[in-house]
Amino acid sequence: MLAWKWGEEHVTLDHTSPMPGRYRTNLTPMVRYVLTACQNNILRKVVILCSAQSAKTQTIMVFLAWLVKNDPGPCFWLMAAHDDAKEFAQTRLLPMLESIPELEDVMPTGRGSKNKVLVQFATMNLMFRGSNSKSKLQSTPVRYLILDEVRNYTKGALELVLKRIVAWWNSCQIWISTAGDAHDEMDIAYGEGTQTHFYFNCLKCGHPQPLRFGRVANPVFPNERKKGGLRWDENEKTRPGGKWNWKEWEKTVRFECEECEHPHRETDRGRILESLFPVDTNENPEPRTVSFWWNALYIPWIPWAEVGKEFLKALKAWERGQVEPLKAWVRESDGCPWEERGEKPRENELRRQCGKNFNDSYFRGQRWPVGSDISTALIADVQGAEGGFLKWLIRQWKENGDSRCVQYGRCLDFDALRAIQEQYGISDDNVFVDSGHAASKVYAACVKWGWRPMKGDDAKDFVTYENRVPIRRPYKVTLVDPSIGKVLGTRCDLALIVFSSDAYKDRLLLHIVLGRGPVWQIPDDVTNDYCEELLAEERVQRLNPRNAVSFVWVKRGVNDFLDCELMQLVVADISGMAVAGLVGDLDAVEPQD
Ligand SMILES: [Zn+2]
Repeated sequence: MLAWKWGEEHVTLDHTSPMPGRYRTNLTPMVRYVLTACQNNILRKVVILCSAQSAKTQTIMVFLAWLVKNDPGPCFWLMAAHDDAKEFAQTRLLPMLESIPELEDVMPTGRGSKNKVLVQFATMNLMFRGSNSKSKLQSTPVRYLILDEVRNYTKGALELVLKRIVAWWNSCQIWISTAGDAHDEMDIAYGEGTQTHFYFNCLKCGHPQPLRFGRVANPVFPNERKKGGLRWDENEKTRPGGKWNWKEWEKTVRFECEECEHPHRETDRGRILESLFPVDTNENPEPRTVSFWWNALYIPWIPWAEVGKEFLKALKAWERGQVEPLKAWVRESDGCPWEERGEKPRENELRRQCGKNFNDSYFRGQRWPVGSDISTALIADVQGAEGGFLKWLIRQWKENGDSRCVQYGRCLDFDALRAIQEQYGISDDNVFVDSGHAASKVYAACVKWGWRPMKGDDAKDFVTYENRVPIRRPYKVTLVDPSIGKVLGTRCDLALIVFSSDAYKDRLLLHIVLGRGPVWQIPDDVTNDYCEELLAEERVQRLNPRNAVSFVWVKRGVNDFLDCELMQLVVADISGMAVAGLVGDLDAVEPQD
């Protein structure tokens, strides 16, 4: 029996599902093909690259329910974080399985046969693990390996876990994830498979096509096109005075046929979804490997207008120099890997930022007239482990995200930094000091003068969960004990800002310095050392043993002023000085682990 039919007959979904009640696949026919592939003993690898919120986990849960009864074998389910795996098993998977009368005779009975990470059914064992508990990834081989949200895995976890599956003749790997970066593990796995898309026939001309969002080429659709995709009107009614009127705008949203330009409306969507059929777009897939793709336009509980609106909001943030919202939209709504182009800007591109606006040519020390819409931040970078001299940089920020580097230089110690702060009239909470070196000295200075410590990190971003939805930010705020290694007499926790060095380097060097984004000024008399330090890093490609690509920034020389400028961007994000949207709150700290 087909697994999806078995699911429709036996599975009922609770309120944690976007469509509670009897399990149905008529509006998500993609999952029928996925489930049929998963149960096919001929296949070794099933890869699903798709948008967020598209019932990925639910589909695998249904497969597992079918499996326990109909084709059991030891199964290993790998999630990103161990704690999430435990919680998922306890609060979602087991209650769902227990609610299926058909499974009554195979469910675990005795105590201990159903602990949080090992479920012992009468027919098979199911193990849950998090990619962050590496020691537990190598043990007995399994027949089924479920790789859930691969892009969030801890580095190296995938290599370890893939070794487990070799021994089984009818083993199957199921990869299911939202997209990450172009050429990463998930993208490669998808590329090796059939690259199956789901098409519908245009309701007017009958032309078969996928629900592809845009027109430009991207890693999933290598060819540009002239027509088709999600469209809307931009006119005086939908965008009066440059500001979207979402209500009027929404009335014009439609999916245009790439052949005859027929506008399909939201009301046509049920018919479109019910008529989907699979089309393999890879002529030369690896043997026994299938891969599927879909984006948010396929998901019945996400209106097309919502997808378009999120895109326009992300685009607006991108125009203001914030890359992250667009990156998140491309991966999580468009279902496509993010592709960052470029290695680094050159000095002439940086110099172009001098007097970018001819009328606004200025020299070091010249400030924008101080007004209520202008904030000033002073950043200092401590040199050497013992806390040698400091390099500092002052930048003014406007509420719209425009900014100006006012002055920069070196000073001997924190007392000298204090004098510079006073000279420019900068408030204590707008002074930020890098605590990557000489942390306890930096903390002590921060406690003394009300400054704030900051530290760069290797992580690409930081994930927090709000109602089970992962929220990614390029920074986080955490509490530290400032008295580390030293008794200060007072005891108070200090808020430490931790940021992704690479994310802000991408933003500054691949976007802002290249002139994409808000006004980002440097003075006409900017010195060579500033320019050299700002451009001291190069973005290089790294390959792992399976040829998956990642990019890292590599230091080629002194880069202190680059660090200062990165920290300026972090501060702008956090304080909301620059752009609304990614604003965090320093009070909203997470407890330190
Ligand atoms: Zn058509």
